[in-house]
Amino acid sequence: MDVFGKRGREQAGADRPCAALALHDPVVPMVEVKDLTAGYGTIVALRDVSLMVNRGEMMAVVGPNGSGKSTLLRVFSGVLAPMSGSIRVAGRDLSAYPRRRLARMTAVVPQETSLDFPFSIEEVVLMGRAPHLGRLGFPGERDLSVAREAMVRVGVDQLCGRALQSLSGGERQRVIIARALVQEPEILLLDEPTSHLDIRHQVEIYDLMAELNAERGMTIVSVLHDLNLAAMYFRRVAVLSEGTVHSIGPSAEVLTYATIKAVYGTEVYVALNDVTGAVNILPLSRLYRERLRLEP
Ligand code: ADP
Ligand code: MG
Repeated sequence: MDVFGKRGREQAGADRPCAALALHDPVVPMVEVKDLTAGYGTIVALRDVSLMVNRGEMMAVVGPNGSGKSTLLRVFSGVLAPMSGSIRVAGRDLSAYPRRRLARMTAVVPQETSLDFPFSIEEVVLMGRAPHLGRLGFPGERDLSVAREAMVRVGVDQLCGRALQSLSGGERQRVIIARALVQEPEILLLDEPTSHLDIRHQVEIYDLMAELNAERGMTIVSVLHDLNLAAMYFRRVAVLSEGTVHSIGPSAEVLTYATIKAVYGTEVYVALNDVTGAVNILPLSRLYRERLRLEP
């Protein structure tokens, strides 16, 4: 059994390009977080976090349940104000943004969206246009054409007229992505967007993210549990642990046996994928974890 990292080996291929990486070489900071502490009432969910997301990059945020991933996205999107520390978006303090301006800047795709009212998918997509609408809130010709274009882009135009509730998980998530795109955001924030989807739909969503990133230079930050998808699609990965950044960097340098063991508290099998050059990480059952411990 080849177990990268168990013997402390550097994972070879850290510098091999992944197939789906964007073409840019971004260097301009888009989101700058400094000494951020954030939480809920007396609960501190993030403590002294500092990190930077560059303009036009795709960054994955991983970490165990409760490590603060969703809280970090909430702070990025301006929904949750920091307890202390600063967050700057496109060079400007987040608290200085007018609400509508911020809504045109960042869009969020949550894990699941439930709407009680049977909105049609056109209505749901147009909701994303709200920060661009005039005082009366009526969509104009350009708003409708942006919505149509987004629906074609994510492949839900054939579903016109259907209610969101009647769609499958994958279709619904595409509609929510279309809603985010019509905001014409510079930053797209996704919180476990594919957790309920089968593998084909998972890769379709992240293929779309890679395309948007390559075509429009959209900055994309996604929380995800699937470390293999994180390694294949994202240039950089931030690993959160107990409200702090345990490590951040290129996926092959960060998603190591040692880091995963330290952060998730379990041994995994780590290897390099011949096709993508990215690391592959597989969980191990107790039988194999015990065997691994007995290995010299
Ligand atoms: P993750 O997304 O990594 O699973 P979260 O950011 O959701 O983690 O949560 C981080 C911590 O903050 C957890 O301890 C969680 O219980 C707590 N938390 C999250 N949301 C709330 C909330 N609305 N009210 C109180 N505590 C919360
Ligand atoms: Mg979460």
